[in-house]
Formats: sequence, C-alpha cells, structure tokens
Amino acid sequence: LQELKRPRVLLLCSPCMGHLIPFAELARRLVSDHGLAATLLFASATSQPSEQYLAVAAAAVQDGIDLVALPAPPAAAALPPSASARERAEHAVASNVPRVRELARALRAAALVVDMVAAAAARGVAAEIGVPFYMFFTSPWMTLSLLLRLPKIDAAGGGEYRDAAEPIRLPGCVPIHAHELPASMLADRSSDTYSGFLAMARDIGVVDGILVNTSGEIEPAVRDGGMDGLEELPPVHPVGPLVWTRPVGVDRDHECMRWLEQQPRGSVVYVSFGSGGTLTWQQTAELALGLELSQCRFVWAVKRPHQSSTIGAFFGTQKGGDISLDFLPDGFIERTRGMGFVTQSWAPQTTILGHPSVGCFVTHCGWNSILECVTNGMPMIAWPLYAEQNMNAAMLEVQVEVAVRAKVGHDRFISKEEVASAIQRVMVGEEAERMRRRASELKDKLVHALSKDGCSTHALAQIANVWKCTTRK
Ligand code: UDP
Repeated sequence: LQELKRPRVLLLCSPCMGHLIPFAELARRLVSDHGLAATLLFASATSQPSEQYLAVAAAAVQDGIDLVALPAPPAAAALPPSASARERAEHAVASNVPRVRELARALRAAALVVDMVAAAAARGVAAEIGVPFYMFFTSPWMTLSLLLRLPKIDAAGGGEYRDAAEPIRLPGCVPIHAHELPASMLADRSSDTYSGFLAMARDIGVVDGILVNTSGEIEPAVRDGGMDGLEELPPVHPVGPLVWTRPVGVDRDHECMRWLEQQPRGSVVYVSFGSGGTLTWQQTAELALGLELSQCRFVWAVKRPHQSSTIGAFFGTQKGGDISLDFLPDGFIERTRGMGFVTQSWAPQTTILGHPSVGCFVTHCGWNSILECVTNGMPMIAWPLYAEQNMNAAMLEVQVEVAVRAKVGHDRFISKEEVASAIQRVMVGEEAERMRRRASELKDKLVHALSKDGCSTHALAQIANVWKCTTRK
C-alpha cells in the first residue's frame, strides 16, 4: 500500500540509447533513493525495438521502474530520408503526445520530466494537468550553456557561425572554435536545420527546472558563475554523473570479459564509438592498422562502416552478432589474435571500463561514454564524430586534462601512425601518468558527489521533495 501512495514521476525520453540509459538511471535513483515511483516512456523511432532497448528495459523493470515503449510514428507520417537524428527524435515524441497525456492523467503523475527534444511537444500536457515540468539534459553543462545562450547569440546577428574567426566564449568553459560547433550550427542560418535547432534551444527556457547530467567536479562552471547573464532562465540542477553501472543480462557472460581476465592490469585499450557512431570503410581499415601498429592489447566494439558517422546504429537498429568482418584489412584478425578482441555485438561497456585490465578508452566522446570512463578513473583518446562531441573533446583535453585528441588530417582522416602515437601517449610515459593521476582524483570526487552526502544526491533530493509536494489540478 505504501508503494501505491508514492508520488509518480513520468519521464519522457527520446528514441536514442544515449538518452534512454541515463533516463533509466535517473528513474532508478528516484525510486530507490528518493521515495518516488517512476514510469519511463520511451518514444521509438523504429517499429522494432532494438536488442539494446530490450536489455535496458529488462534491467529497468528489475529496478522497479515501469517502462512503456511508445509506438514509432505511423508510416504515413514518415519524415524524408534526409531528416536529421534530432528531427526524427522530435517527430517520434510529437506523434505520441496524445498517449503521453492519457498516461499522465491515468497514472496521476506528480511531475513530468522530458528529454531536450521533447520540451515543445510535452509542455501543454504538464500545463493541462498542472504538474511541474522539468527537463533532464543528458549532455554536458557546456552544451546546455551554449543552447541557453543561443537565442541571444543569434539575435546579435553576424555571419555564418562556420566562418567566425573568433571562438564562442561561455563563462568558465573552453572557447568553442567554429569547427567544434554542433553540425546544426554549421548549417546556413537561413536553413530549416538551424532554425529547428534554435527553436529547440528556445524551448529549453520554458521548463520549470533543468536537471543536467554533470557535476561541478568535472564542469566547475555549472556551479561557479556559469549562469551569469542567464538569470531569467529556469534553475539548473547538476545531478550527475548518472551512469549505468549495473550488469545487464549478457554482461557477465560476454566473451570479451573472459578474454580481459587473461590480460595484464591496465594493458588494454578499449575502442568504441557509442551506440550510433560509425566510421567510413577507409577509416575503419586505417584504425585497424593503427591498433596493429601500436602493438597494444585492445578490445574493439566495431561497427560495420558507413559513409555517414551517425546513421549506422543511432536508434539502435544495427544488429550485433555474427555479421562478417569483411571490412577489416586482410589478415588483421589472424595477425592480432591473442593481442586483440573484436566484437560486433553490443558491448558491455560499463563492465569493460570497470575491468582492471583496461587502461584507456578510444571514444567518440558521447557524454555517457565520457562519464562512464571518468567514473572509472581512466584517461581517453578523444575521437569526436557528431553532435556536441568536438566540444566535449576540447573540454577533456584542455580543461579536464584527462584525454588527448587524435590529430585529424585532410578530410578529417586519422592516420594509422596517429592512432598508434595517441595510444602511446595515453598508455606510457609521464604524460600518461599525469592523466591517470588526474582521472583517478576526478573519480574520487565524482564518487563522493553521488554518495549519500554528496552534492548531486542533495540536488536530486531537493527536486524530489518539490515533486512530492505537487498539488495537481
Ligand atoms: N553502449 C554500450 N555498448 C555498446 C555501445 C554503447 O553499452 O556497444 C552504451 C554506452 O555505455 C553508453 C551509451 O551506450 O551508455 C552511449 O551513449 P554515449 O552518450 O556515449 O553516445 P551516443 O551513442 O549517444 O552517441
């Protein structure tokens, strides 16, 4: 009976694995630590739920979270193939607003917490039922700061962002150079892509509060002056890093874990480009040769190459398993046998990153991957691909000092020599030692932030208390 009385928070997440995972973790904490009940709504962009979605869903249910998959938009309402990932995510959420309204009423929701792409669509639902309307921002504070300031930056005029000689300076953040901006800001300012992005930035300002998956320990600006000039906007609450740490079904049995058991401490490089990142055919082959050249042990969660860096598996549609590795250089698997482990299935990333044999992470700089790595006290090689990842890479190298950025050549190509040299820099020598020390100190601070008395736990407790006191219309 006690359970039934718990105020219920409705969380609405867009169709990306990189959002669903931190949303599930937020829901778990609300249920296990803050006396709330949680229903997590996951808007699908595809008609078949992916294997990864099902794995996360199974774990979430065990954690006491009710999970509802919202159907993909009907075929008749399909977007053109050229639509961006953001447009697809917005569309998937918008087509489910009637269902969200119905569930919010039926479940007597005490608060509605939405993803960054869902603010415009869901605002009306929260207003109708009279409950607090919050956003959970799953990217870093630096990106949130840029989005919150974008309407003002836009109003100040100027030419195309991509031509700007001066970087954008946000309080307490590394300067953002033109080539590091998200792709939507590099599009023409008169384009639909940019205007959609600007509209999303404006919509962020209309929520009652923003939970951001970061902590002042990794991004000091979120607590020290980062909101200067944004006083009229909703309050920002750093509640992170919320990372997925629980084993999910397959994790413990994945063959790569058995392989890792045989390797010396700190000797293995883990390579992965997240749930959606893909490299071109040529770049995939070059990375393979770079790993071989480095003579370092590795685990590579490889994806079938694609000419676009994001399309491969962004909504969890690429199947893992026994697909041919014909895209790797001839003889690569034989030559690296014993030294490397290649897997095409969904890798148990957080378990890999927590394994003592792993010494560094070659990452596309998705924010979850970064948080999962730093909470394990490990340095990174930054290989950004899309979204805000170039900004994240700059932050990690210049400000947090726990990564080196792989140097890109002509056409954004990274050579095998650069792959080997970056691995060398992060695995051996003084620079590597310094980064490892920094990463280990950061880990301790982040663990504390999330402990019972830590600042992130307090921040979430305060908001949970507000939600518990909601009086609905
Ligand atoms: N992930 C995983 N196994 C994989 C690929 C990705 O567990 O083989 C998880 C990873 O641990 C992280 C999320 O998927 O939690 C990816 O989120 P991130 O923000 O790093 O990147 P995105 O995929 O959103 O670009």
